[in-house]
Amino acid sequence: MNKAYSKEELSAALKNYFGFSGFKGLQEPVITNVLAGRDTFVIMPTGGGKSLCYQLPALISPGTAIVVSPLIALMKNQVDFLRSLSETEGIAHVLNSSLTKAEIKQVRSDVRSGVTKLLYVAPESLTKEENIEFLNRVTISFVAIDEAHCISEWGHDFRPEYRNLRKIIQRLGGNIPIIGLTATATPKVQEDILKNLGIQEATTFKASFNRPNLYYEIRPKTKSIDADITRFVKNNEGKSGIIYCLSRKRVEELAQTLQVNGIRAIPYHAGLDPKTRVKNQDMFLMEDAEVVVATIAFGMGIDKPDVRFVIHNDMPKSIESYYQETGRAGRDGGEGHCLAFYSYKDIEKLEKFMSGKPVAEQEIGLALLQDVVAFAETSISRRKFILHYFGEEFDNETGEGGDMDDNMRHPKKKHEAQDQLASLLNAVVQTHQKYKAKEVVHVMRGKVNALIKSHKTDAMSIFGAGSAHPSEYWMALIRQALVAGLLTKDIETYGVLKISSAGQAFLKSPSSFMMTEDHSYKDANDDVVVSGGGQIGAVADQTLFKLLKAERKTIADKLGLPPFVIFQDPSLEDMALKYPITIDELSNVHGVGEGKAKKYGASFVSLIDNYVTEHQILRPDDFVVKSTGSNSGLKLYIIQSVDRKLPLTDIAQAKGLAMDDFIKEMEAIVYSGTKLNIDYYLEDILDEDSQEELHDYFMEAQSDQVAPALEAFDGDFEEEEIRLYRIKFISDVAN
Ligand code: ADP
Ligand code: MG
Repeated sequence: MNKAYSKEELSAALKNYFGFSGFKGLQEPVITNVLAGRDTFVIMPTGGGKSLCYQLPALISPGTAIVVSPLIALMKNQVDFLRSLSETEGIAHVLNSSLTKAEIKQVRSDVRSGVTKLLYVAPESLTKEENIEFLNRVTISFVAIDEAHCISEWGHDFRPEYRNLRKIIQRLGGNIPIIGLTATATPKVQEDILKNLGIQEATTFKASFNRPNLYYEIRPKTKSIDADITRFVKNNEGKSGIIYCLSRKRVEELAQTLQVNGIRAIPYHAGLDPKTRVKNQDMFLMEDAEVVVATIAFGMGIDKPDVRFVIHNDMPKSIESYYQETGRAGRDGGEGHCLAFYSYKDIEKLEKFMSGKPVAEQEIGLALLQDVVAFAETSISRRKFILHYFGEEFDNETGEGGDMDDNMRHPKKKHEAQDQLASLLNAVVQTHQKYKAKEVVHVMRGKVNALIKSHKTDAMSIFGAGSAHPSEYWMALIRQALVAGLLTKDIETYGVLKISSAGQAFLKSPSSFMMTEDHSYKDANDDVVVSGGGQIGAVADQTLFKLLKAERKTIADKLGLPPFVIFQDPSLEDMALKYPITIDELSNVHGVGEGKAKKYGASFVSLIDNYVTEHQILRPDDFVVKSTGSNSGLKLYIIQSVDRKLPLTDIAQAKGLAMDDFIKEMEAIVYSGTKLNIDYYLEDILDEDSQEELHDYFMEAQSDQVAPALEAFDGDFEEEEIRLYRIKFISDVAN
């Protein structure tokens, strides 16, 4: 029934309707296939030009094309765009539940008369009986299913309504051609789409997912993440960027931190009212803001071509999400820096979020997360890893963008691992290919768990064959064998490892296999200066730290005070990290408020200033990252309430704080240099003698820690009493 179109006719239509002078990528063969009435499957990265693959054939075919898309906002954009191409308002319509009766009537009459070439429908509207009955009676050119990955539970955006599409399309009439389109699809998701849409025979067009201009980098997430992000943005001043955070709270917090540091940043999340959301989005598009800090609610359909960086404050929940979100950088082919902060703790948090969900969904979620972990920790080409994930071979020696990631720029040493690989593959074969990566590592290391016991694997000779290497080594080797195609992961069983034919060939005649050990971000995390609680973490600059301690001692002796009332250790550690050289900078150091900085800070900053000059130290940056004092409101409330002599228990209750947390807040207040007079409360719980005993103790003590105090008094005081008195002590003596 369809007319065949020549190349010239198609080019003319492209020019006429869209004003473009040539097709992009695979558009032309896709369009030809659609026009021939065949089922079509298109996999193209975002920005590849998928819409045109159905818009153009719809415009020149008889009848109306139905376009299914999950997002109403995107449908509206497209309809507006199509109307702008034509003189006929009715050329495109949206059919959804928000239309009035009159509007529905108009849509129907336009479709019936053949004016409407594209009818956009949300999947849930398509299931409505009255719509099915109506569509059943009109001429449909084809059905386009955008964001087709929504049909698969294995994708990153499963929509159960997509599952009904096949049945409904069948009811609309026999043999309506279907075109499915998606921007991300692992091999498993591709298979799901074809199967669920019933288009196994479809011609598949797959563009490369390689984005050669994007630079991928993962950094360990530490306590200094605010400073890390602020520095990165400052170093990229004037460039447009998106920062993704998991929670709304973090979005607000980080946007504020950036703002107080002089960066034009705006928050964006679904909790903002629609007006603010639109306003903020426009500010970003119009470049009134450089940076948008957002949850993943931001970005769908945003087509800003010159986004120069995408930062992930938290790792996303799948590689697909990571690819989509980072994909918003460098659309114009220019620079695009993709920086993600990784901490295994965040992965555990994501796992916890899933715990309420049905088991199968959890299993899928966990399997997707494990790939995120593997990606973060891998030491091989990140581009190769991502492309392998999407079923694409990539040679980073010759491929475009092959050296555009942190691992390739700063490669780790390679080791020969031929024997180890042989022994690993052997273990997979001998244990009958029934274990996931974690268990295979256990088998190599000789570690039992219930599953291994139940299979009696611990009695096999291979069990423990690799105990000479740590678990991380085996995990790295498994990941690299997967990417090399020697092992495969069975998706249906949530990640059971199987040996591939290439793996079998390797076992028959082993050859050299060079591997690198993966990153261990755990070590990096432990390096962080631990703030609060008086714990001592690793210190950035030991020499300076010692000098600062000596200075503190000198001053303490002069004033006849214990050293800790001057500055606590974590504060000195932070000074050895940030090198503050003015009182202003000093007041941004952990646990140091303005009052305290002014009172005791002078000799410290001059010491640091000399030290920095003498040792020609490049300070972390020529600016200091300021913090927002995010709970300054709470602190103010506490200070005012104590001033009014309200019972402490009432204050805690009013703010919904447990006593322990409340005491922590008060500690932070007095330690950073603000007075807090809680005498009125202490009088009720400690008699004069007890208070004197505690005072004498702290005057003599080497440290202000609670544990030694508890021990010294051998049970005479409760922990809470000691901490409350300590608040008075610090407040009286130090401030
Ligand atoms: P996708 O849906 O694959 O993410 P879109 O269909 O939104 O991509 O198209 C991305 C951009 O590419 C749009 O701005 C569109 O106008 C543009 N585009 C599409 N086809 C062409 C073409 N043949 N020539 C020039 N620009 C094109
Ligand atoms: Mg699209």
